[in-house]
Amino acid sequence: MKIKLLPSTIDAEGRASPEQRLSCFVVDGRVCIDAGSIAIGLSEEERAAVRDVVVTHPHMDHVATLPIFVDDLFGSLEEPVRVRATREVCEILARDVFNGTVYPPFQNFHNGRTRVMEFVPFREGEEFRAAHLTFRAVAVSHIVPTVGLVLTDGERTVGFSSDTSATDEFWRVCNREPRLDALLIEASFPDALAELAETSGHLTPSALGRELRKLAHKDLDILAMHLKPSFRNRLVEELEALGVPRLSAMEPGREYVW
Ligand SMILES: [Zn+2]
Ligand SMILES: [Zn+2]
Repeated sequence: MKIKLLPSTIDAEGRASPEQRLSCFVVDGRVCIDAGSIAIGLSEEERAAVRDVVVTHPHMDHVATLPIFVDDLFGSLEEPVRVRATREVCEILARDVFNGTVYPPFQNFHNGRTRVMEFVPFREGEEFRAAHLTFRAVAVSHIVPTVGLVLTDGERTVGFSSDTSATDEFWRVCNREPRLDALLIEASFPDALAELAETSGHLTPSALGRELRKLAHKDLDILAMHLKPSFRNRLVEELEALGVPRLSAMEPGREYVW
């Protein structure tokens, strides 16, 4: 399985910069998890292939350019862009984003060949398919309804925490899997801002270290993501200081393969 965190910003030379401002992860070039930078970071090939977008929660950094992505593709779509989320999150997106004021209600639009976008709700705890992948969504501890994900292509399995503070069910679901090849987990704020992390539903490196003790699987790659850009260097140092084997900060633009 290949996963790439799309860049959110480019540096003066046009290269992907290491800061992550938006969340969008492309799996095997075909399925996106969240859509923060989906309209600005995909290659042409990926843009042509991605028709399934799994949205973990409605925060702007996770859905910012989803409307632009559908808009770009409007005339060329032969099948809808399927926005997969819990029913509650689908309703929030319809009410607050695709509402005819912030952006057109693409869920009601047809381009002459196909509907251009459809909401495909999934239930927490139940498996669902998106392209060649099987997902299981599990509620995590954020300030709005949010799911973490466990996804598999039948051979490799990856856990994805999304935005969360300390949580339990996610770890139970990860631990039930016979194998886990990689874990993507958030680390938003440095240890000195533990209180802010807690009230905003996020983890610090120390809290991430405590969460990892709930994980039964060993010998897997652990990628820290969602590092707040203004604290990135400090977060990288604090993550290194944990001394957890195979833990590193995820780099935007790099393709990770398991
Ligand atoms: Zn969030
Ligand atoms: Zn976020």
